Amino acid sequence: MTMRIGHGFDLHRFSDDPARVLVLGGITIDGHRGLIGHSDADAICHAIADALLSAAQLGDLGQHFPDTDPQWNGVASTLLLREVVGLVHANGWSVANCAVTVLAETPKMKPHRAAIQELLESIVGAPVSVSATTMERLGPIGEGLCLAAEAVALLEKGSR
Ligand SMILES: [Zn+2]
Repeated sequence: MTMRIGHGFDLHRFSDDPARVLVLGGITIDGHRGLIGHSDADAICHAIADALLSAAQLGDLGQHFPDTDPQWNGVASTLLLREVVGLVHANGWSVANCAVTVLAETPKMKPHRAAIQELLESIVGAPVSVSATTMERLGPIGEGLCLAAEAVALLEKGSR
């Protein structure tokens, strides 16, 4: 059996537009500023999608879904993640697991973690773990200007 690991990173700036909703891991988090982006700016979905593409050596999210293409304007990132999982499968890989770390001062991820993991596992078809850390109020993340997510994904191909 062949295994491949991949890594993804994403960052989005928080918006001052009260109409912009915060979506992380496909879950809408009420009562918090949203993130600025061409799609729904779901940094968790973007980081996992990039980790999957990275592991399969299929480039990156921006290459498959360019932000200059109006087709992807305002699209749910869970849809992009589904597309990426389809690409990974079409190349003969299955997902072993994914792990994502959210870097942000707020929101607190703990109340949302179970719902996010459940939704992402249903899309990816493998275990997904979500962890979170703050930046100790240092730098742009620590000052609450933006939120970032890092992810790793493990793929496998062939018989055990
Ligand atoms: Zn993104």
